[in-house]
Amino acid sequence: MPNKFFLENYPLYSKANTDWMNSFNNIKLNKLPKPAIHMHCDVCASEQTFNVENDYEESEGNYNIEGKIIRAKYICSSCAKGERLFIVRLFNRIEKTTDSKGGEVEYTYVSMEKIGQYPSWNIQMDSELEKMLGKHSDYYKKGLTCESQSYGIGAYAYFRRITEDIIDELINSIFDLVEGEEKKEEYRTALKKVKETKITEKKIDVVKDLLPVSLQTEGINPLKALHSALSAGLHGKTDEECMEQAEIIRSILVFLVNQTMKTKEEKKKFTSGIKKLLSK
Ligand SMILES: [Zn+2]
Repeated sequence: MPNKFFLENYPLYSKANTDWMNSFNNIKLNKLPKPAIHMHCDVCASEQTFNVENDYEESEGNYNIEGKIIRAKYICSSCAKGERLFIVRLFNRIEKTTDSKGGEVEYTYVSMEKIGQYPSWNIQMDSELEKMLGKHSDYYKKGLTCESQSYGIGAYAYFRRITEDIIDELINSIFDLVEGEEKKEEYRTALKKVKETKITEKKIDVVKDLLPVSLQTEGINPLKALHSALSAGLHGKTDEECMEQAEIIRSILVFLVNQTMKTKEEKKKFTSGIKKLLSK
């Protein structure tokens, strides 16, 4: 099966495109990749690696992938008992481009969607996140439920609402991670401006360029990404378009909340470790 991210994260009936070209019906089921995945194992009660144990069957001589169904049974590599089952439908996707002479050319690629998954798509929450979200965690679960049904508009609305509810707390807690007196002073001034507005996008706009490096990842500033996902809005958008933005908002919230907590925790441990050493 193609893609680890697809298996771990995609809800049912959400279409994923691959770059496997299938213009000559050359894609064979038994040649498809079988990546290991990392998911929660109910038996181990923790995150584990799962591997596929079955072959993707194929009737001899029939290579047309359109409408083919793959069943992939994954087994936990730690306890060899925990199971994850995926049923995936494959279908062709036609893409048109123009060639060097300006003529139209069609290429066929493979796309897929999950049509079944057991245990059902995970709407279990990360415990750290549940702690920080507190009373808002209900909305988070509802957002995940919408996502699992590909109701992008609903998911977007719930994740946006959570952002609005926790933005002040989040921005305040980021302050603790700002390094250096000069930067802290800059952030303090920004915090005053944040209090002057009720609009979430404006609050984020004020602090987004002051985000500490410890909260940036691979050159991405999550606050900037959050800002643009929120600004995109719901208006006139399809479920599919909203779903993309909803996923961005959710993953940024999870990242920021976890990262802020983790960094604070590490700082605390470091300080108390140093104190212990010094008191010896
Ligand atoms: Zn296990």
